[in-house]
Amino acid sequence: MSQKILSINSGSSSIKFKFYQMPEEEVLASGSIDRIGGKNSEFSFSAHAEKSKIVKDIPDHSSAIQEVIEMLLTSGIIHNKSEIDGVGHRISHGGSYTKSVLIDQKVEDRIDELSVLSPLHNPVNLIGIKAFKKLLPDAKEVAVFDTSFHHTMPEKAYLYALPYEYYEKHGIRRYGFHGPSHQYIAERSVELFGKEQTSRLISCHLGNGSSLCAIKDGESINTSMGFTPLAGLVMGTRSGDIDPEILPFIEEEFDMNSHDVREMLNKKSGLLGISGISNDMRDLEEAASKGNKRAQLALDVFVHQIQHYIGAYATDLNGIDMIVFTAGIGQYSPTIRAMVCSQLGYLGVKVDEEKNKTNALSIEADDSKVKIAVIPTDEEIIIARDVMEVAGFSD
Ligand code: AMP
Repeated sequence: MSQKILSINSGSSSIKFKFYQMPEEEVLASGSIDRIGGKNSEFSFSAHAEKSKIVKDIPDHSSAIQEVIEMLLTSGIIHNKSEIDGVGHRISHGGSYTKSVLIDQKVEDRIDELSVLSPLHNPVNLIGIKAFKKLLPDAKEVAVFDTSFHHTMPEKAYLYALPYEYYEKHGIRRYGFHGPSHQYIAERSVELFGKEQTSRLISCHLGNGSSLCAIKDGESINTSMGFTPLAGLVMGTRSGDIDPEILPFIEEEFDMNSHDVREMLNKKSGLLGISGISNDMRDLEEAASKGNKRAQLALDVFVHQIQHYIGAYATDLNGIDMIVFTAGIGQYSPTIRAMVCSQLGYLGVKVDEEKNKTNALSIEADDSKVKIAVIPTDEEIIIARDVMEVAGFSD
């Protein structure tokens, strides 16, 4: 029997969704709402092979969710709300959850408690859960955690060298994020290229948020994000890893409190902080091509860090069979991919420049020892598949 499943991916001021007929995995409708909470929110919707865009004020995430359901009804994709059998929510921080779960009050409370670890995302994820519970009381709601895919990391990869009780009593450890994306890349790579070619895989999710994941035979063994999604690589506006001693230094020297410091690290740092121009890679590539030195520096720092992680993960994996680029930058920036691969000759990585320019699926040169692929990620299908499994629809 078929089910209709909605995958919801809420960010701090946006919602992306896909509505599926499962298990066929047919996308019936999809869309996004950006700039929630401000004036002129943008609602893009696609169904029946037609795209539309509406600009209107959408004050909060609850209203945004109502808009999505209304749009499914008015476009004739559903005739009654009760046709939606299940809703899957991408939840940023899942703490010790190792897999997706059916949402009940206990799970809601736990997601709420974990908000301290992901203050930008868990609270809005929770608003989404509550809004759907009200609007669709009979639908099964499933939480799909960004952190779960990384539960296979060994202790030596996730433990920070702090007093052990911080880990034992307070769960302070590396968790990793972007789980549904890295999982999709792992599974899709096997489908496309087979198990042998993908045994030692490095997934490079390079978007506004960026992380790398070392995947051994389908399982995460290391990843660049940590206790929170602030860690690891330089990102659009996030700093990535810095010397921890910088924090008390800044607090004391500039009389900043922890809230100010957190804002600075999450919103004013990264590519934006270095370049002083933009967090958007397209802007930076353009500025760098016109000779802007700080834009070029932002690109160089970003690429340098990716190269270092790839080198480290080649060690963790004992060699590499395949590198996959995904997310906005990974998928669409030949410049960044070429820069990253330019220093990886020692690993046998060699790009075919012509293939790279066209964002082709396989971009390695004929004599490259490592496969290099460009694969669009699809977090929403991982969410929908998990709803089917966890809600018992696939039995
Ligand atoms: P995401 O978070 O996956 O949506 O990715 C957003 C990032 O992808 C932004 O930094 C965009 O500038 C970048 N991006 C999207 N398209 C391109 C492109 N054609 N060239 C370079 N960067 C791009």
